[in-house]
Amino acid sequence: MNINSPKDIIEILQNNPSKAVIEQILCFEEENKNFLFQAATEIKTKYIKNLVYFRGLIEYSNICRKNCFYCGIRRENENVCRYTLTDDEVLEAARYAYKEGFGSIAIQGGELNSKAFCDKITSLLNKINKATDNRLGITLSLGEQTEEVLLEWKEAGARRYLLRIESSNRDLYAKIHPNDSVHSYDERLKTLKILRKLDYQVGTGVMIGLPFQTYENVAEDILFFKDNDIDMIGLGPYIEHADTPLFQYRDILPPLKERFDLTLKTIAILRVMQKDINMVASTAMQAIDKNGREKALMAGANIIMPNLTPTKYREDYLLYQNKPCIDEEADDCKNCLAARITLAGDKIAYNEYGDSPHYFQRVKKN
Ligand code: SAH
Ligand code: SF4
Repeated sequence: MNINSPKDIIEILQNNPSKAVIEQILCFEEENKNFLFQAATEIKTKYIKNLVYFRGLIEYSNICRKNCFYCGIRRENENVCRYTLTDDEVLEAARYAYKEGFGSIAIQGGELNSKAFCDKITSLLNKINKATDNRLGITLSLGEQTEEVLLEWKEAGARRYLLRIESSNRDLYAKIHPNDSVHSYDERLKTLKILRKLDYQVGTGVMIGLPFQTYENVAEDILFFKDNDIDMIGLGPYIEHADTPLFQYRDILPPLKERFDLTLKTIAILRVMQKDINMVASTAMQAIDKNGREKALMAGANIIMPNLTPTKYREDYLLYQNKPCIDEEADDCKNCLAARITLAGDKIAYNEYGDSPHYFQRVKKN
């Protein structure tokens, strides 16, 4: 591969690159790596300006029916004190987001599939919309759900759904999940297709730096996002948690710095290839590097999720260890973020939904 400028990278990545070519770009260092980041900045400026949108993150509940091998709140972790926010706590966080001009919130939590859970979320969506004049864009991230449930939530006002595929490679997926019907790759894929059919803005993503994961796997993930025409992507480095089965492989993991760098390069490649998607600068980036989210913005991300979960619950929502900001109030978070975003050369867009432009292009095409 002959690379002499960011233009060369744009040319390659925007013309159906093969898995092998993407894998090579993921290995770029020094000058070529800088060209990649410059290419991402160029595309970001051209297609989505340098605007950053906020999604106030509400970590609704850590009760989960699943047992994913990587996750700190998996069902079998008995060291977790389980909680679910009250309606008032959720509403207070939503009102805060509205008042501060965040434009959107994301309600995330463990996966439950009871009728009571479905009804509760529907009722919360109604209450939030009423309290905020339907002016908040609501993202849900509550795991795999049936078409009926997803339709009910869509009709109650959810507009986006985030469901990471975790790894698009079936073999790797099988290594990081229990082998049973509750943890089926096919079900996860099917849910992504249902979300699309129901006209949600569809978000997915993977963890980067998982045990057994190769650079080739990450290249496959990048092609998976492209082939599935995904609207929003949330990528983050895998960070080990001592109370999980995958912890036993900590000695074979790439160093944190490598996981971090590989995530940045993946973000940059996706920005160049997919141009107008929304991409999250994830909190897990900040867990590794205190300027991690700014670096992700500079590599091509455009979404930040300030944590609005009441502080007293934060240490019970530790998907991974060393999660940052667990003792900060929402106001501290907001002020610190605004300063960081300006440093990264971006501008915060207040009071806007900040929908994925890709979604509108895709709907227009079909
Ligand atoms: N239960 C829902 C949403 C909450 S989990 C779901 O699983 O879809 C949100 C995300 O946290 C997961 O998709 C996973 O990618 C991430 N996560 C879990 N454990 C992690 C870990 N150890 N390191 C990094 N990310 C992790
Ligand atoms: Fe539950 Fe999501 Fe954690 Fe899996 S990743 S155990 S589904 S919260």
